[in-house]
Amino acid sequence: MSNPRPLGRFLPGLLLGFLGGAVAMIALPITAQSPPEAPQAPAPPKKEALAHRGLDASLWMQTAAEYRACCLQAYNLATLRLQKLSEEKPVRPRAVIMDLDETVLDNAGFQAMILRSGLAFSDDLWDAWEFKYPELVGLIPGAREFIGTARELGFTVVYISNRSENYRASTVKALKCLKIEPTKDEHLLLNKGNNDKTERRDQVRKDFEVVMLVGDNLRDFDEDFAFSKLDKKFGPDELIRARKAKVDAARDKWGREFIILPNSAYGEWQKPLNKAAQDYDRLVPTFDPKKK
Ligand SMILES: [Mg+2]
Repeated sequence: MSNPRPLGRFLPGLLLGFLGGAVAMIALPITAQSPPEAPQAPAPPKKEALAHRGLDASLWMQTAAEYRACCLQAYNLATLRLQKLSEEKPVRPRAVIMDLDETVLDNAGFQAMILRSGLAFSDDLWDAWEFKYPELVGLIPGAREFIGTARELGFTVVYISNRSENYRASTVKALKCLKIEPTKDEHLLLNKGNNDKTERRDQVRKDFEVVMLVGDNLRDFDEDFAFSKLDKKFGPDELIRARKAKVDAARDKWGREFIILPNSAYGEWQKPLNKAAQDYDRLVPTFDPKKK
């Protein structure tokens, strides 16, 4: 149950490696701050700083035992489902398709760096993390045990990830460090320039009956869940409602064919968001404490 990547061990190296002295200067006040004194009188309510958005989301994934329980629950359910399927005689070889990031691989160290340094996500930063620090990538709770059981039961595990094909060696190294490397090169399908995974899923379906998909982003299951597939005329509220309706329409698949892992830190769900103060419009209060 120990955290494989204590932040203090690698954050300084990451910051220096990514950003040089400038970011180290940004990070310094965070670590040098002393705890604030307890207030003498009741303080007025603090306003939320938009700059800190994402903090609770990442803290939940990195500190909440509830997050860990959700992951174990997902993988326990997936295991039970495969055990049930293994009682049936297969017509064709069978496979489980798994996403990697935040499904199997835990990038908490990267998210921590972003938040501690006050930086926004960028492809350059992510590329540096993906390419240079495979040994710092963690493991999502329950993933390794599930992969082992799936293989023992005769299912082939195929990873389909939008990590870059250019950094294949680094991704394989991360998987090897965690003892869950693919059994063959063709069982790791990376991104060659198309974030849509449909073609790669179809490629797997030529050789296997795909009995299960495991992911943290709805696009790991079906590209139909992408916001780009919805009406461009929709505003944010309609987009969000329409995507929830698509999840409801696939109700029977969740926990059976589709196993989803929680990811509050990032994902397709953010696409209609990140509009600064306008994001508050997505929150609709039904209770006004000022009204009697
Ligand atoms: Mg993912």
